[in-house]
Amino acid sequence: MDGEIVPWESATVHVMTHALHYGSSVFEGIRAYSTDAGPCFFPLEAHVDRFFDSAAIYRMQLPFDRSEMRNACHAVVRENRLEAAYVRPLAFHGYGQIGLNPGTAPARVVVAAVPWGSMHGKAAIEHGIDACVSSWQRIAPNTIPVLAKAGGNYLSGQLIHMEALRNGYHEGIALGPDGTVSEGAGENLFVVKNGVIRTPRVSGSLLAGITRDAVIQLGADLGCKIEEATIPRETLYTADEVFMTGTAAEITPVRSVDRAPIGTGRPGPITQRIQQAFFGLFEGTTPDRHGWLETVHAE
Ligand code: PMP
Repeated sequence: MDGEIVPWESATVHVMTHALHYGSSVFEGIRAYSTDAGPCFFPLEAHVDRFFDSAAIYRMQLPFDRSEMRNACHAVVRENRLEAAYVRPLAFHGYGQIGLNPGTAPARVVVAAVPWGSMHGKAAIEHGIDACVSSWQRIAPNTIPVLAKAGGNYLSGQLIHMEALRNGYHEGIALGPDGTVSEGAGENLFVVKNGVIRTPRVSGSLLAGITRDAVIQLGADLGCKIEEATIPRETLYTADEVFMTGTAAEITPVRSVDRAPIGTGRPGPITQRIQQAFFGLFEGTTPDRHGWLETVHAE
């Protein structure tokens, strides 16, 4: 926290912290996977780059550079002796003067590490989840910038996710302001039809997910036809397969949308191939062709 390793109980802030009142924070979610070579980040550099991009969008001056942020991510996994971890870098405006201008409160930086299994549980990875189309749309372009992974954006995600849970689903799928498919509350979305994998374009209403990028690359490596496209809502009801991707969600099959089963109602063959290729990176059965893995430094 602010450059020091501090005990969990001491990692606290004042109630007048700007970010608590006005959402002025940016963050990342990064996984370190347990591998034969010890815990390995997946892909740390891309996450640190997105963190600095998020800060740049909000003109937030970070008191640490990229290599210090990377070292901090290594340090929290190592010092907590975690074999596998979810790492959460967070930069936020602290307490300055009350009022909107975040410039009165310098940015503070925290990197936390926690053990975390799968976002929707182990069964979700194996059997898939039930999703619904949310009544809440994602953020429109040029309102709140969605390419920044900022705390305030997650008010949208919370509404989408809470509504889904309330109605008995695992997750909500949001449409963008143009009425076409955008993304899940905290995941990107892929649709498979007649052997072609499609995912919504990064168009200013969805986060440019790092797992999404990796899946586009893995799909191409497997020889699949994979493309970015405009995805009409009704495509979800006629899809052969649907799956979600994210650091927390990993590769989660969607088995139904709005109670309509997807394909056979079980994870489809292309989803399973992508899952195998993805988890194979950490199990050692998929070669790390793109240099995504980075072993947590021992010292
Ligand atoms: N969309 C949203 C809204 C998210 O919060 C996340 C999780 N960071 C994703 C997509 C997936 O992004 P990534 O693969 O980089 O974790």
